[in-house]
Amino acid sequence: MRRRAGESQSDVGSLEGTRRIRRVIVETERTFTFRSRERETVWCLACGAEVVMTGVETAAREGGLSEMAIYQLVESGAVHSAEAVNGHVLVCLNSLLK
Ligand SMILES: [Zn+2]
Repeated sequence: MRRRAGESQSDVGSLEGTRRIRRVIVETERTFTFRSRERETVWCLACGAEVVMTGVETAAREGGLSEMAIYQLVESGAVHSAEAVNGHVLVCLNSLLK
């Protein structure tokens, strides 16, 4: 009886361990998905081609500009942009770096 109780306890323990690992994996995937959305290959209407678009922060880093400068370029139309599913502005690196 005692042994069985011990066995079932260790079963519960390993099940919890599996759950914990699964949760970590899910969270990692979510982070990865978020990160990959920061840089995605999308069709840019203005370029008429598939281009790499990134969030403003990444675009600023890639272009060696401030985020404010990126917003100004986007607003003036000098740099192409698109709206991501999450509402964030995506900047066309093709038009920024040319
Ligand atoms: Zn473009």
